[in-house]
Amino acid sequence: MTTDTDIYYEADADESQIQSKTVAVLGYGSQGHAHAQNLSDSGVDVVVGLREGSSSRAAAQEDGLRVATPAAAAAEADIVSMLVPDTVQPTVYDQIEDGLEAGDTLQFAHGFNIHYNQIQPSADVDVTMVAPKGPGHIVRRDYERGEGTPGLLAVYQNPTGEAHAEALAYAQAIGCTRAGVVETTFREETETDLFGEQAVLCGGVTELIETGFETLVDAGYSPEMAYFECLNEMKLIVDLLYEGGMSEMWHSVSDTAEYGGLTRGEDVIDEHVRENMETILEAVQNGEFAREWIAENQAGRPAYHQRRAAEQAHQIETVGSDLRDLFAWSGDGEDADAAESAESGESTESEESAESVPEADAV
Ligand code: NAD
Ligand code: MG
Repeated sequence: MTTDTDIYYEADADESQIQSKTVAVLGYGSQGHAHAQNLSDSGVDVVVGLREGSSSRAAAQEDGLRVATPAAAAAEADIVSMLVPDTVQPTVYDQIEDGLEAGDTLQFAHGFNIHYNQIQPSADVDVTMVAPKGPGHIVRRDYERGEGTPGLLAVYQNPTGEAHAEALAYAQAIGCTRAGVVETTFREETETDLFGEQAVLCGGVTELIETGFETLVDAGYSPEMAYFECLNEMKLIVDLLYEGGMSEMWHSVSDTAEYGGLTRGEDVIDEHVRENMETILEAVQNGEFAREWIAENQAGRPAYHQRRAAEQAHQIETVGSDLRDLFAWSGDGEDADAAESAESGESTESEESAESVPEADAV
């Protein structure tokens, strides 16, 4: 390794830290169904916490798991794994708080609510994070294949002194130590996750694609050509970056593309964009974004729904939908995974998780 970040593997974990314990998995969506089944298959006693009438109850029972209300599950459990949507977690926490006794563990897969003080557990409870770096259906699939999804581990408070070892045993039981578990903090995980999805992965990439598309269409080129050039080919480039980094991508494209990209890229993503990114990072660090998103939820998400509708109405969406229908590559390969993920998500509108299953591990 060229960094001094701690990374843990199978040999670092001590399964006795979890084997005698009961884990309450709250929520049975993307992460919940994967954690619950992997823990159970690893021999850990699992109870899934879901509301009476939740449509996910039948799914969990069909998978052979015990189901109780979140409050009952937490009362019974030694480790409570909070895997309902982040925006719902503070409400669910109010229901389960009484079930957290001194020495129990409250565990998360994302740091938002702890880092921004939306959940403030009592000081005698361990607070940890085990966050697989992949959507739940991949966490489950990797485990079933005898492989594992890489994960993050963080300890926020540790009154028992056992929090770290227990979280590592949990990471092992869901398969993460087979791949590698990276030590982080609630602050680092939360802030890098929010920054990444806003500036680069979700916000940055979509705006880059749309601005390129609009520039070509406004100059009189056909929307179909603009779609292929700016959106469709993005996947080919990202696949190369994912497999072998910048070098492999530059190696695989033509010399003309390499020269043009190397000389013009910095004109697109210029110092002004860097300043914008720094401003976005500041709003993540000082809590301004978190306050805005919490208020937006309290108000019934007006801006969210409006932005979503505008994005869906963009010309790149209508052109793309028509073009994808013409080609064989829609409907197989990656899309099969997406369908599987949506199925296993089990989220319903009535459960306030309209986002269903996020596809990207970064989100
Ligand atoms: P999800 O939306 O897929 O599933 C949430 C589940 O919670 C629902 O299926 C339902 O069973 C339950 N639920 C919803 N509303 C509820 C309520 N009011 N009361 C009780 N239960 C309710 O959620 P997810 O994507 O698995 O996210 C769970 C956690 O995992 C979050 O903290 C998220 O940030 C984190 N995470 C997600 C991913 C991912 O790829 N999806 C990756 C890493 C971490
Ligand atoms: Mg308990």
